[in-house]
Amino acid sequence: MPLTSLPLVFHPIYSQLDLPKNHRFPIQKYLSLKTAAINKFSSKVSVNLVKAPITRAKLLQIHNAKYVDDFIHNQLSTKEMKRIGFPWSEQFVQRTLTAVGGTLQAAQLATEHDIAINLTGGYHHAHPDFGSGFCVFNDLSIAAHTLIEQGKANRVLIFDCDVHQGDGTATCVEDNPNIFSLSIHCEKNFPARKQQSDWDIGLEKHIEDEAYLAQVKDVLTTAFYSFKPDFIIYDAGVDIHEDDDLGLLNITTQGIYQRDCLVFDLAKQNHIPIVAVIGGGYQRDINALTAVHLQLINAAIATFIR
Ligand SMILES: [Zn+2]
Repeated sequence: MPLTSLPLVFHPIYSQLDLPKNHRFPIQKYLSLKTAAINKFSSKVSVNLVKAPITRAKLLQIHNAKYVDDFIHNQLSTKEMKRIGFPWSEQFVQRTLTAVGGTLQAAQLATEHDIAINLTGGYHHAHPDFGSGFCVFNDLSIAAHTLIEQGKANRVLIFDCDVHQGDGTATCVEDNPNIFSLSIHCEKNFPARKQQSDWDIGLEKHIEDEAYLAQVKDVLTTAFYSFKPDFIIYDAGVDIHEDDDLGLLNITTQGIYQRDCLVFDLAKQNHIPIVAVIGGGYQRDINALTAVHLQLINAAIATFIR
């Protein structure tokens, strides 16, 4: 049966985080994106509320117990919290656990429907024993590990197109031969010290659509046919956009749409389920940022929904 509506995963808490004034993180973008998706695509999307926050047991598949417990119980040092980039609060703990639960739920939905999108996620700077760059727990690695453990996938490709390197993911999955971490990012950008993914492509600053899309296509195709995944986790960060505050690349909105279509198309043509997370995106104008993130949903509908 052809899919008639695109499964999205969301929870209002995604956008509920009280931040200090002038904090750079555009926390409103998640709710804004959900609203825009419904307004623009109405019955072509179906919104699934996150059923359950991620459990401690699932976190421990990837993360160190001391780190998990210290975060949950506000025992991380000031320095450790500063590296994460958000102040600690009960609300932040709940938001974090719900967001990671959302990626896992979306991954499960993708095993049933071939495609699903979590309207947050992409915590690729989270390492086994510390968080960094707005990331606490590595949802991508946890989802990959869980799918394999449940027998719902054997070989998972984590394709990370956020402008920043997936350094945490690289470390979280380095010892697992059934998870392939592939990061295509701007080389001269955060994190200053890169980790080694299974494959890293460090792009020059200011690359434009044509050269970027050619690289994405080449790298993804090569990885796909050599690793032969039976499930794809796609981090569709839009901080590659020309107007992004943290990006340094010159990719247009149309270029992002084409990138997302290219990734979805490869999955669809090969009958490989794919879950996408929205990843980074830091324009301060929430409407402009929402329009860029909306390309992911647009591309998924164009590819999967009749
Ligand atoms: Zn990023």
